[in-house]
Amino acid sequence: MTKYVFTTGGVVSSVGKGILSASLGMLLESRGLKIAMMKLDPYINVDPGTMNPYEHGEVFVTDDGAETDLDLGHYERFTSAKLSQKSNATTGAVYNTVIQKERRGEFLGKTVQVIPHITDEIKSRIRQLTSEEEGVDVAIVEIGGTVGDIESLPFLEALRQFRLEIGPENCCFIHVTLVPYIEAAGELKTKPTQHSVRALRDIGLQPDVIVCRTGKKRLGPDQCAKIALFCNVTADAIINAEDISPLYAIPLNFKSQNLDTTVLRLLHMDAPEGDVTEWTAMVDRLKNANKEVRIAAVGKYVGHDDAYKSINEGFVHAGIANDCKVKLVWVDSEKLEQMDDVGAALAEFDGILVGPGFGSRGIEGKISAVRYARENRVPYFGICLGMQIAVIELARHVAGFTGATSTEFDPKTPHPVISLLSEQRGIKDMGGTMRLGQYRCDLAPGTKAHAAYGADTIHERHRHRYEFNNSYLDTMIDAGMVVSGRHPKGDHDLVEIMELADHPWFCASQFHPEFKSKPMYPQPLFRDFVTAALAFKEARA
Ligand code: GLN
Repeated sequence: MTKYVFTTGGVVSSVGKGILSASLGMLLESRGLKIAMMKLDPYINVDPGTMNPYEHGEVFVTDDGAETDLDLGHYERFTSAKLSQKSNATTGAVYNTVIQKERRGEFLGKTVQVIPHITDEIKSRIRQLTSEEEGVDVAIVEIGGTVGDIESLPFLEALRQFRLEIGPENCCFIHVTLVPYIEAAGELKTKPTQHSVRALRDIGLQPDVIVCRTGKKRLGPDQCAKIALFCNVTADAIINAEDISPLYAIPLNFKSQNLDTTVLRLLHMDAPEGDVTEWTAMVDRLKNANKEVRIAAVGKYVGHDDAYKSINEGFVHAGIANDCKVKLVWVDSEKLEQMDDVGAALAEFDGILVGPGFGSRGIEGKISAVRYARENRVPYFGICLGMQIAVIELARHVAGFTGATSTEFDPKTPHPVISLLSEQRGIKDMGGTMRLGQYRCDLAPGTKAHAAYGADTIHERHRHRYEFNNSYLDTMIDAGMVVSGRHPKGDHDLVEIMELADHPWFCASQFHPEFKSKPMYPQPLFRDFVTAALAFKEARA
């Protein structure tokens, strides 16, 4: 029988529930348990696919093509839990299902209400996360938002009911909360946590574990005892979560406070002591890296890392594999557009990246950056839009197609080297309609991609509407484009990876390799790009 851990957040948002949930998952897996992970989000969007990543953070894509919250990226990087469409549900998705049922007449004339109909749908989604055959020992379910918000109420009410249905001994509630340090008083203040726990109790939920985000400070035994007393939990269930770097050291901090053992006790479960030596070695490698490469990430400067979370992490993992620190520096593509010589802005870097993006802003600056990388033999890595830009650059400056571009940017271009995927024609809805999820890609022997993966066939995840236009295939190959990865599609293979033969490392993929990178399993293209950047740096020195 599957046991359940529910994580909620208190006092403020962004308190670290996602990392806590992922860390607990990692620690439970280290004890040989099979886990599943899920996030419930209280917003009305049916999924985050239509939300602006610059406000909400990256949209993470699963193998089966779900567009999900970025916390699911943490779950995949920290654990081996299999994530899918079932792993993320929003208020919008829940209401959508209930309203469709109502339209079909399935409620047999009843008045449809938050309790029981919405809460029933929430509980049913939690149940559907796991099936008996999968043999999941523990499902960790994170509730987005902050306790006290109007919108999270139906989710918390559903959990209250769920707990009674499966039995209190089969679930455990973790509350992650902020314990602010007040400079003038020279003290960490526990009052907001007490209030937050009181708000939970008002709804009928009592946390079993309280994880305290304390910034740079740490709670002493007296303060832990005070929180335990006022919040009605045992003292061993007060966990310190001070700011810790690197990110991957966080589970080790929880381990040192026996979080996993406490949770197992609360779930009435036994499991052998966990082995975290490999994980610890990975963290040490990350901390002790003594080399550094600087990569120019050419795009719109957005001011916060979450918009490209998985790409940032992909470079951390690639750094671990190369014993080097990777510094991603954002270079504003619109600024490049105003420069006569982009070399002035790019010459200091060891590699150039053009990442995913939508819309025509800054496109010309990105094209100039790719041209600089090609002509100066600087390692280049393109992801999704970054592949499309590389194609456009080669078409314009080598193949001689003046004005070549994507129909996304200019529907009337004389040379649509990138054009809408055939199956995208006629689609009007924006949500969930891109080419999404994992597709097969066959690699051509003798290419950089083949060398990186060491395999003939791979599967990677996608999120796009436009593709390489095959009517330009022969001319582009003549111009030096190597098609190193193709998705087989009968009469119409899709170009999934392109490279340049006569270049130290120039590789660009239509898919998003960042979604599958893990600290212990660095993504091969990220890894080899960083290796090439290191070689470029050394050669230049
Ligand atoms: N805008 C491009 C497309 O839809 C690229 C998308 C992306 O980079 N994720 O094809």
